Amino acid sequence: EHQNDDLLVCRDIVLEFGAFRAVNSCSFSVRRGSITGLVGPNGAGKSTMINLIAGALHPSSGKIHYAGEDITDLAPNERFHRGLVRTFQIPHEFAHLSVLENLMLVAPHQAGEQMWSNWFSPGRVRIDEDEIRRRAWATLGFLELTHIAHERAGRISGGQKKLLELGRTMMTDAQLVLLDEPAAGVNRTLLRKLESQIEYLNRERNYTFLLIEHDMEMIERLCDPVVCMTEGSVLIEADFKTVRSDPHVLEAYLGE
Ligand code: ADP
Ligand code: MG
Repeated sequence: EHQNDDLLVCRDIVLEFGAFRAVNSCSFSVRRGSITGLVGPNGAGKSTMINLIAGALHPSSGKIHYAGEDITDLAPNERFHRGLVRTFQIPHEFAHLSVLENLMLVAPHQAGEQMWSNWFSPGRVRIDEDEIRRRAWATLGFLELTHIAHERAGRISGGQKKLLELGRTMMTDAQLVLLDEPAAGVNRTLLRKLESQIEYLNRERNYTFLLIEHDMEMIERLCDPVVCMTEGSVLIEADFKTVRSDPHVLEAYLGE
């Protein structure tokens, strides 16, 4: 039942908010090494699926498999430890901390017990903190955010917050990165940068991406395949051109 080159398999997922079925028998897979697009009109259930995959929500029925394991009942932090990392449609930065500190905070959480015991054992503390600091500076360099390293995260622009969200995934040993509308509110120049960074992380760090985005040019340039959801389930999964020219997809967007 489980294909080896599928990193993530969502099968027959149902989620209700009260009497309302936000996700209705939703099934799709994410191939290892792919940048899979997740599109669909507002309210289709895309962010809810990300919340289900990350473990912030639990399905009423259905199964989620990740890296060959049934993770349907795993806690969010357990998924995070396994390299399943997400960003938010609305950035969740720690506003009163600096940009650098926001990055440094991420690492020890994923490294888990081993890192924590090192963290607390004298003699190792400095080594680990230095390593995290080095990684945070490298991440800032990659994102071209070095000049705002000491700014309070609450004060940087919306686009820079989006880059910071991506940066937080780079502080972990991510395998599957769930990106919820990374381009929303990001200017043209920053958008191109974001795209090339996603491509780089896919190619060089072997990150697999599930990318929700309304910017269809970004989806076209980055994603294969593209999964289109409407009313809580998958309408079509295909290459971008096929999805874009599908009459049911057009109809779904017109009804938005
Ligand atoms: P998308 O990301 O595709 O725009 P969402 O997954 O955010 O859609 O939402 C899917 C549907 O579920 C929408 O109709 C939305 O109003 C509803 N919904 C989302 N979150 C909640 C919630 N916490 N409580 C009630 N309804 C919700
Ligand atoms: Mg959404």
